[in-house]
Amino acid sequence: MQFKPIFESDGRPVLIAGPCSAETEEQVVSTAHALKSQHISLFRAGVWKPRTRPGAFEGVGTPGLAWLERVRRETGLPVTTEVATAQHVQDCLRHHIDVLWIGARTTVNPFSVQEIADALAGTDTPVIVKNPVNPDYKLWIGAIERLYKAGIRRIAAIHRGFSTYGDCKYRNLPRWQMAIDLMQEFPDLEVICDVSHICGRRDILAETAQKAYDLHFDGLMVEVHPDPDNAWSDAAQQITPPQFSQMIAALKRRQISSDDPSYLASMDSLRRQIDELDEEIIQMIARRMKLVRDIGHAKKDKNIAIYQPERWRALAEACRQRAEKSELSHEFVALFLEAIHQEGISQQEKIINQN
Ligand code: PEP
Ligand code: MN
Repeated sequence: MQFKPIFESDGRPVLIAGPCSAETEEQVVSTAHALKSQHISLFRAGVWKPRTRPGAFEGVGTPGLAWLERVRRETGLPVTTEVATAQHVQDCLRHHIDVLWIGARTTVNPFSVQEIADALAGTDTPVIVKNPVNPDYKLWIGAIERLYKAGIRRIAAIHRGFSTYGDCKYRNLPRWQMAIDLMQEFPDLEVICDVSHICGRRDILAETAQKAYDLHFDGLMVEVHPDPDNAWSDAAQQITPPQFSQMIAALKRRQISSDDPSYLASMDSLRRQIDELDEEIIQMIARRMKLVRDIGHAKKDKNIAIYQPERWRALAEACRQRAEKSELSHEFVALFLEAIHQEGISQQEKIINQN
């Protein structure tokens, strides 16, 4: 697939900003006027809101599209909203909405994405595809492919993180590697980071936006509301227009590389050390797995279950305490251990199920 950018690029990051939901005409239009001078690329507001639980505000529907048209007329900003059905697409085309986006709860469903792609066939409407709620890389690409097959070329992806269960720093786990893989596989696909839905709270928005810049995302999507605490949806993660402008101004854009010889030499040396350590880490994990397999054989002899909850709890706690003394985050240590544990279980399964 070969993509075209959503907009002619002027080299600046793509900034998409605006409220989570279009609530009233006044709220939409005043937010857009406040954002007009911030050099945003696209004004967002959801008019159809897919909500997790019934009874929450589900959007103002089609009348909100006229408010977005007014935004474009008065501010010159292109506008975007979320679509989930063919009817939404038709309504948006009738109201000349500049860009459409497909939300995480829709990307997950190939029937819905196909319906949207069919409704867009023959138009040249740019579409932004959010990742599915679950970390399924192929499902994300599949949605992009369905649009591509319908003839859409101006496609971008939005990374908005993945649903999780239990207490966590983020509302939606970033799993950054998936976005990095997407950037590597499709170098001409714009990949934008929706920091608002990743964070779910405003106090970590700026650090997450900086992280997105450091990972070379092509831009950001940020929910901006004139009175965030009283927003009708996603109140905890929205920021005011002045907070948005402050956050964007403070972000550092870093060079991809430098041709300074001393920088290149020191990078070379550091990277060689990292390569050596990676080699050692792999060897050590392989040695650990050999011990795990020995345990597997012993368990098989005595017909003992693979999973030993007590042992796993004690091991996880011991590692957590060790990590506390190092500069490793709890999240990283937990993920790392879980991956090792899973691999250990599957290696022992093979042994125990062998005849
Ligand atoms: C949104 O952008 O307001 C939204 C509903 O996002 P997501 O599909 O990422 O949950
Ligand atoms: Mn939202």
